[in-house]
Amino acid sequence: MTKLRRLSLTAYEAPLCETIVDCPQPQSSEVLVRVERCGVCHSDLHMQDGYFTLGGGKTLDVRAGRTLPFTLGHEIAGSVEQVGPDAAGVAPGAKVAVYPWIGCGACAACKAGEENLCSTNRHLGVSADGGFASHVLVPHPRYLIDYAPLQPSFAAALMCSGLTAYSALKRLREHAARGPALLVGLGGVGMMGLSIARALFPQPPIVADIDASKREAALQAGAAAAFDPADKDARKAVLKATGGGVYAACDFVGSDKSLAFATGVLAKGGKAVVTGLLGGPFATPVAMFVLKAMTIEGTLTGTLQEAREVVALARAGTLAILPIRERPLAEAQAALDDLRAGRVVGRIVLTA
Ligand SMILES: [Zn+2]
Ligand SMILES: [Zn+2]
Repeated sequence: MTKLRRLSLTAYEAPLCETIVDCPQPQSSEVLVRVERCGVCHSDLHMQDGYFTLGGGKTLDVRAGRTLPFTLGHEIAGSVEQVGPDAAGVAPGAKVAVYPWIGCGACAACKAGEENLCSTNRHLGVSADGGFASHVLVPHPRYLIDYAPLQPSFAAALMCSGLTAYSALKRLREHAARGPALLVGLGGVGMMGLSIARALFPQPPIVADIDASKREAALQAGAAAAFDPADKDARKAVLKATGGGVYAACDFVGSDKSLAFATGVLAKGGKAVVTGLLGGPFATPVAMFVLKAMTIEGTLTGTLQEAREVVALARAGTLAILPIRERPLAEAQAALDDLRAGRVVGRIVLTA
C-alpha cells in the first residue's frame, strides 16, 4: 500500500515531525492528489503556535477543531493520483492547483458560494490535513483548477496570497474607478496585489510602506507613487497627490497604524478593505463613519469562483510572478523558522 508521508504538527509550539500512515483510498467523489508544491504562509506560523496575536497582549486561540497529528499547508499544486468512483471530469496525471478553502456545503455561506467563510469548514491545512505531505485528499474534483502554462509554485501561491489579494481588490473595483487606489504594505500579498490592481483597475495604484526598498520595488513594478506612512507629512502628501483623498484603499498589513493610515487618507465615500492580520486595536470616532461616509470591510481569503478568476488572470499573462524560493518538503520547519525570523523575501514553496 502507498504510504502517506507528512510533516505533521504533533504538538503546538513545537517543531513539525515526520509521520507516516497508509495513504487513504479516495471514496465516492474524493480525489487523491500527489503534492508537488506547497507554499509556506504566515498563517501556518499561527496554526503552529495555536493562536493568533491580536495586539495589546490579546490572543485568539485557534486550536479547536483540529486533532493532532495534523498536517499544515494550504497553497497546494500537484497531480491527480487516484480518483474515487464518483469523481467525474478528472483523470490521473492531471496537473492541478487545489482550492483549499472547502466548506461543509450545507450552510448559508456555502450555499452562497462562500465556502471560505464556512464555520464548520474543512479548509485544507487549517481544519483538514493539508499539503506538507506526499499526498492530500480532496473531497470533490470541483476544487481542482488547471493552471498550465503557469509554474506549479506560482499556481500554488495563487491559492492563498494571490486569492486573498484578488478577492480584496475586487471589492474595491467601483471605488477604484474614481481615482487611484492606495495599497498599504508591500510584502508578498501586497506585491501580488500591486500586480492584480494594475490588471483590474483603470489607473495604476499608489502605495505606502515603511521600507524604502519595498517602495522602490513597487515603483519599479508600476506603482504611480510611493509614500512612507512613518513620515509625519505622508497623509498630507497623499491628499495632495490625489486631489483630496483616495476612494479605495487596501490594507495588506492589518495593524492599528496601517489601518489608521489607510482610513486617514480616504475621501468622502471611500472604502478600505483589510486583509492583513498583524494585529492591534483600531479606534475611530463613530461619527467619522457618517461624516466621511466611510466603509471598512474585512476579507478572508476568497471563494472558489474567485480562485478560478485569479488563475485565469495569471494564465492570461497579466500578473507579475512573485519572487519564489523552492525548498524540499523535508525543510518545512526550517522554512517556517525563516519566515518567523523575517528572513524571507517573496514566497517559500516546498517541493516534493
Ligand atoms: Zn495562507
Ligand atoms: Zn458551510
